[in-house]
Amino acid sequence: MGACAQVECPNCHKEFIVSPTMLGLGENFHCPFCDLYFPETKSPRIWKPEGSWGSGTAESTRRVKSKEE
Ligand SMILES: [Zn+2]
Repeated sequence: MGACAQVECPNCHKEFIVSPTMLGLGENFHCPFCDLYFPETKSPRIWKPEGSWGSGTAESTRRVKSKEE
């Protein structure tokens, strides 16, 4: 299951999915709706995937232990 981030375009204000690995790199995002390239800082809104952000250790691969008989 891949986590994904969502970005709002500063031009057309539509939202689209980007790879969370692109966040924080200073890479330009590409809006598929209006074909605009813009830096992360220009986005009015960014939704980051929950968990595993900021504090290093990831909780994302945590599994519920299921016991089969
Ligand atoms: Zn756009």
